[in-house]
Amino acid sequence: MMEGEGTFFSRSFPDSASVVRFQDALIEWFCANGKDYPWRRTSDPYAILVSELMLQQTQIAAVLEKKYFERWMRRFPTPGALATAEESAVLKAWEGLGYYNRARNLQKAARTICDEFQGEFPGSYEAILALPGVGRYTAGAVLSFAFGRRGVIVDGNVSRVISRLLAFSTPIDSSSGIKAVWDYANRLTPDDRARHYNSAIMELGQRVCTKSHPNCMICPVSEWCSAKKQGISDILPQKKTKQAPVERVERVILPIRERKIFLTQESGTRRKGLWRLPEISEEEAEDLEELFRFKYAITRYRVTLIVHAPGPLQAEMLENSGGGKWFRIGSLDELPPLGSPYRKAISQHQCTSELSD
Ligand code: SF4
Repeated sequence: MMEGEGTFFSRSFPDSASVVRFQDALIEWFCANGKDYPWRRTSDPYAILVSELMLQQTQIAAVLEKKYFERWMRRFPTPGALATAEESAVLKAWEGLGYYNRARNLQKAARTICDEFQGEFPGSYEAILALPGVGRYTAGAVLSFAFGRRGVIVDGNVSRVISRLLAFSTPIDSSSGIKAVWDYANRLTPDDRARHYNSAIMELGQRVCTKSHPNCMICPVSEWCSAKKQGISDILPQKKTKQAPVERVERVILPIRERKIFLTQESGTRRKGLWRLPEISEEEAEDLEELFRFKYAITRYRVTLIVHAPGPLQAEMLENSGGGKWFRIGSLDELPPLGSPYRKAISQHQCTSELSD
């Protein structure tokens, strides 16, 4: 039977002596086993903020593989460099990471740092929390990783570890579950070693207490784990029932001629500043050749993107279209910032063309 937080106080953990032993064990494990990520080699708060926003909705492996962090820091090494950059250059540097509001917020934060703090990153929790795009997790991360001060953090990894340590029966994505996890995170975070502790608990979740295979045999904190004691690690954390994704079909044309491609601008605030392949209706697509199709996911939608070759009608439409532009098509890096599905479609087309050449 799972135990909720009510039973927790009857246990010896987290009395202060147990908490210190728990922190020691976790930090010791991290010092011997922690990974060497590029953002762990710096205490520059701006660089930490960049890495935290990049990692918010993107896997570490994806950020590392394409060296997004290193490239960003070369391109915009300071808040001042980012604050004065063109938005199109900022979005281009973020291309492939998705959720472009993170890049826009980073630039807004850089402008706030320049306008209100003379380019010096603020050092108080309240001022960091007030920066655009920064929530309590990110503020706690910057405070601890950059300034070495006590900052409490809860991300997906921390939340999973805590819910297992305490054998939470409450769904961790419910409001009472979120509150309880933050409450325990606050109790378990040390005053003086928050930088190491926060890295350690996140890494434990990434590498040992993983979503589908908690490896309790090698876990440095198994001694304190209620889920392990009860043999229920595999079924935790509990989550609210997820809504099934909504299926959608999106049809676009791929207008390429004389080594140029026609693109249109995205509308709406979330995709503002990005470009895309022109969309057509199901009716317009009726007589057009289908080149290929693939699926992509965005928020609660699972979209089937069907890519067509344009017909004579579309060619005429493009000529008269005021909302688009022809771009020279060499490498993808020469094109303006594109949404990931359209970048993938163009890349797939280029590969197919090269193979058939
Ligand atoms: Fe996670 Fe197992 Fe460690 Fe508990 S003992 S924290 S379930 S890996």
